[in-house]
Amino acid sequence: MATIPWLVDVLRAAGVQVVVEGDWLNRMRPGSFDPIGVLWHHTASTSSASNPHPALGICINGRSDLPGPLCQALVDYNGVFHVISAGRCNHAGVSGGSGPIPSGDGNTLMIGWEIDYNGVNQEMTAAQYNASVAATAAVLTRLGRDSSYARGHRETSTTGKIDPSFIDLNVMRADVAAKMAGGGTTWSATVDNATSGRFTASANWGVSSYSSQRYGADYRYAEPVAASDVAWYRFNVPAAGNYRVEAWWPANSGYNSAAPYIVATSSGNQTVRVDQRATGGQWRALGTFALPAGDANRVGVSRWSNSSGLVIADAVRLTRV
Ligand SMILES: [Zn+2]
Repeated sequence: MATIPWLVDVLRAAGVQVVVEGDWLNRMRPGSFDPIGVLWHHTASTSSASNPHPALGICINGRSDLPGPLCQALVDYNGVFHVISAGRCNHAGVSGGSGPIPSGDGNTLMIGWEIDYNGVNQEMTAAQYNASVAATAAVLTRLGRDSSYARGHRETSTTGKIDPSFIDLNVMRADVAAKMAGGGTTWSATVDNATSGRFTASANWGVSSYSSQRYGADYRYAEPVAASDVAWYRFNVPAAGNYRVEAWWPANSGYNSAAPYIVATSSGNQTVRVDQRATGGQWRALGTFALPAGDANRVGVSRWSNSSGLVIADAVRLTRV
């Protein structure tokens, strides 16, 4: 196989949003290309809603030390696949071998997605994750390979690459496998403090739009007290199973260093405390929990903290794993 001219059609058939970047069918590195798997990367660029694909130009054109194209597709902040090349690209370097991918020329062996997030203080967005899983499942199906043929660069690299960071690669492969098995979608739902009918808090919780790290238009805040006054997030969990619970808060030095999040699991409430003075403006994992099916208050933020500083209730996300 010298090229993969089917890539755009396969992605679109899987429901992935595609933007074709110029002459992708003829833009490639010289040399062999006979892919058996998919390699996941992050770009190390900071993407945002207003700047969704900061690394696109570099991925097309390359750098002074590495000629482009640098990946077959770039996955932007919104989960859109920008298809750059149908052939060999400079993304993988030497493979040290990982899972079923042998050691050797990584650029021959693998198709690369550069997922555009910085990986240091920015995680992959939910849209990037879901699109990457769907695209990987579709391409591996086309290649006739199972989900173990999807790897992260940090698994195959011989030079200490760390990408893609903030991702459990075994969980991501399991989501690819579920997709390939026809299980369909990776269920995920986000409830923000402004989500109609899904967030409840007493009037003791104020409303603020002070921090630019907020999710959506605003968030709720309250002084810590030794009393139960929980802000609740209601989810309609589709089936009993294991779900990753993530929270988003704006960070500020005046916020609480041990804000208690309550997860109502299949075996009772569990509390996870987070430091809301740091790591704001992004999804942070509270853990993976067994949850029962049904529509109920599933995650809460309690004011009952012994630490000083405002307790923040902004957004919560559940994802089936
Ligand atoms: Zn990489």
